[in-house]
Amino acid sequence: MGAGIVGAAIARVLARAGCDVVVVDRGGTAGGTSASGEGNILVSDKGPGAELQLTWRTLAAWDRVREELRDELPAGFPDLEFDHKGGLVVATTPQGAEDLLAFVRTQRAVGVRAENVDDAHELEPDLTPGLTAAVFYPEDAQVQPVVATEALLAAARRYGARVRQQVEVTGPLLAGGQPAQGAGEQRRLIGVRTTAGDLFADAVVVAAGPWSAEVAGRLGVALPVRPRRGTVLVTSRMPVRVRHKVYDADYVGAVGSGSADLQVSSVVESTAAGTVLIGSSRERRGFDDRIEARVLAALASKALLLFPFLADAQVIRAYGGFRPYVPDHLPIIGADPRLPGLWHATGHEGAGIGLSLATADLLHDLILAPEKADPLTDAFRPDRPGLVQGGPAGPGLVQGGPAGSGLVQGGPAGSGLVQGGPAGSGLVQEGPDGPGLIQGGPDRPGPVQGRREGAA
Ligand SMILES: Cc1cc2nc3c(=O)[nH]c(=O)nc-3n(C[C@H](O)[C@H](O)[C@H](O)COP(=O)(O)OP(=O)(O)OC[C@H]3O[C@@H](n4cnc5c(N)ncnc54)[C@H](O)[C@@H]3O)c2cc1C
Repeated sequence: MGAGIVGAAIARVLARAGCDVVVVDRGGTAGGTSASGEGNILVSDKGPGAELQLTWRTLAAWDRVREELRDELPAGFPDLEFDHKGGLVVATTPQGAEDLLAFVRTQRAVGVRAENVDDAHELEPDLTPGLTAAVFYPEDAQVQPVVATEALLAAARRYGARVRQQVEVTGPLLAGGQPAQGAGEQRRLIGVRTTAGDLFADAVVVAAGPWSAEVAGRLGVALPVRPRRGTVLVTSRMPVRVRHKVYDADYVGAVGSGSADLQVSSVVESTAAGTVLIGSSRERRGFDDRIEARVLAALASKALLLFPFLADAQVIRAYGGFRPYVPDHLPIIGADPRLPGLWHATGHEGAGIGLSLATADLLHDLILAPEKADPLTDAFRPDRPGLVQGGPAGPGLVQGGPAGSGLVQGGPAGSGLVQGGPAGSGLVQEGPDGPGLIQGGPDRPGPVQGRREGAA
């Protein structure tokens, strides 16, 4: 469920392995968050841990899959614009330099390639003269997110996958008994109801990005994925004056923050088309998709601190999207123990473009070759402690006792599954961070609200 880059990558690996795959999306392909990302695949912003390991896997996977796509895509398919351009992280204050270099030490200790740069102007001549530290990360890369999504879907189709656009998942198809009673056969998901009829499946994968809580809710389980708004400014085309991905050392703190308030740090890079992307903001305000002057002003002024020449650049547009945010900042990948047959591949927040391929590989092994499943997958389990207990900013994944009881009780398959009203409402009650995951509210609108068309 979901024809963004995560669903596309999963569809490709499963179809390639011989599975009969159907991808459903209530909009068009690559029309959700995957059309809003900048396409960076960053090692530089990852501290030691599972997400860094997944990033290394994904970088290797991008090299391999790009080769495979040469045979899988028709001649003339647009270029993925994959570029191992490297990332340059700079500090502009003494404290910023201290924090950056301390972070770099933790990264180097686990093998991240991070090179102190004495004169950043050799790499980026147009950078401000007032830098206090600069570190270059040669592993950082970039890809064009929409082309990459479409390429993965095209390859999946080539292996027999069907992609159904304008088809919305509305509810579950279930077989078996009542998990909440703790006895007898466990209830199992055997497919989904959609606006175009029932679809039966051995494995149903939620890859609905920031809408994953809503989709999972329709199937009867709570999932702590919420939208984290991001806005990007785009300049007109210009001769290349920003050669790498360049960002302020503050960025790492903004990414890791659990605050709902606006966070802005400067991220500047060129695209293959010649435009310059100026990001990035982070804010949790539900599916509110307004593009606001206060955010644009903050983005622009921070960018000018790094690249003063941008003061004269022509801005041609701004766009925004919703990162799929999870309180512990790790994706959710794997089987849902509360409902056999249900799988998750979501919650990648600001890294889903990059991490899509490694996510698909992990899920491939979990579904088709569980004996090979990597210990790394434990960190992303849907029932990991960080989610079950509830993170700092949200209610836990499993509500109301033993695994399985978080499922909504109900009558016959497909009816009454979600209590308290229409599909997608009434599943999770008030939590510390506001109203229920699925209910409407400032951070969580109802089922179909908040859909936005992606911008280039
Ligand atoms: C401003 C911004 C900058 C970013 N920069 C980067 C970056 O540089 N690098 C990076 O790796 N990531 C970046 N990201 C994050 C990245 O874009 C996301 O992590 C990624 O796109 C998530 O992909 P997805 O496939 O999970 O979700 P999506 O692309 O959102 O796809 C989910 C799909 O599910 C569909 N759907 C929803 N509900 C239903 C339903 N009921 N039935 C059927 N279909 C449904 C939607 O229509 C949608 O098409 C950025 C995000 C933003 C907002």
